Parts: sequence; C-alpha cells; structure tokens
Amino acid sequence: MGELTKLTDFYRLDYRIGAVFNEVTEGRVQLIPAGAWKVLRARLVHDFEERGPRAMFELGLPLGSSFADELMQHISDPVVLMRRLTDMAAAAGWGIFSVVGDLQYGSQLTVTAANCVFCENQEMSTSPQCDFLVGTVKGIVDRVYGAPHEVWEESCAAMGDSACQTIAEESTEELMSPDSPAIRSLVNAPLGVAVAKSLGVAVAKS
Ligand SMILES: [Zn+2]
Repeated sequence: MGELTKLTDFYRLDYRIGAVFNEVTEGRVQLIPAGAWKVLRARLVHDFEERGPRAMFELGLPLGSSFADELMQHISDPVVLMRRLTDMAAAAGWGIFSVVGDLQYGSQLTVTAANCVFCENQEMSTSPQCDFLVGTVKGIVDRVYGAPHEVWEESCAAMGDSACQTIAEESTEELMSPDSPAIRSLVNAPLGVAVAKSLGVAVAKS
C-alpha cells in the first residue's frame, strides 16, 4: 500500500443512515472496539475453559468465509484476491498483514500479522491467543482455494514473538475423512477434558 492510501479508498461512511460500506463489495461493515476481543476471549475461557479458544476459532470461521465470498464476486484471481484481503485487513485495523507461499493454489501459506489487533495489550502468554484470527484465516483459505486446510498459529505476539504467524496447509483427502485421527484430534482437542471426564478418567489440568 502506498503512503497516500486513505481509509476512504476502502470504506465509505453514510452518516445519515448510520452505515459504513466496503468500497469493493458494497457490503455493509461495522467497527468493533479492539478491547472487546480481550474481554470476549477471557469470558469464554472463564466459562468454557479449554473450549473457550475453540469457540473464538468457530466465531472467526464464518467471518472469514463471508470475507472470501463477498470478494470472490468481484475478484476471481486468488493471488489478487489474497493481496486485496491483506490491504483490506490493514484498512480495517486488523494489523499489517502479509501472505507468502502458494498464493495461486493455496497448498501452503504463511499469514503474518504485525501489530495484530487480537492480542494487543494482552498479558504475556505461553500459548497463542489469536484463535479468532486463525478461524478467520481458515474460513478465507478454505473458501478461496475450495479445499479444507489445517490452520494453526505458529507464533504469537502474546508469547513474545515479533508478530503473529498463522500457517495454513491444505489437508489431504485422507486427513479430512471424519474417521481420520487428524480430524478427530482437531475436533476433540479442546474437548479433551470433557471427553476424559465422561469416560471416568481423572486428568490433571495442566
Ligand atoms: Zn497472536
């Protein structure tokens, strides 16, 4: 993005009707205070423990899919589309995003977010915190490339890393079968304690 990039290159405010529109898709958007993410995540972790981060991930998924759906009606080239998304992310205040890897086919992508809004002002943590971002990235890449991806946050500013780095890898057919160990562990990982409890297994909380 050039130095002369303005918010109005991306979004248009119609103050009379209280609506902001995306200049590319003409879809309506809204602003959310960054502090709300911290409060929401803390609340979900408090109420649902290990399943809280999974809930944040699940919230991000449909948002990413809808970002992709809207933009795919206007841009068909995945390389151009992914670049446009990173520009829009900055304009929308998500942070400075870059995507490297197989932008054409989406087999392997690394999404780096500097100054990520989702872990701003977080206490230092031993685990990645940007589950909502990871869900959004998965929603985008699954839709743009038309195939399921395994997506995880490799490094996170909340862990002291310089930026939040999310990896997306296209899953093989076998991995995505409902019976495969990979998809089972993905689905069950945050539910591990609940599953263990239902089996009458005592587990020490880490
Ligand atoms: Zn992060």
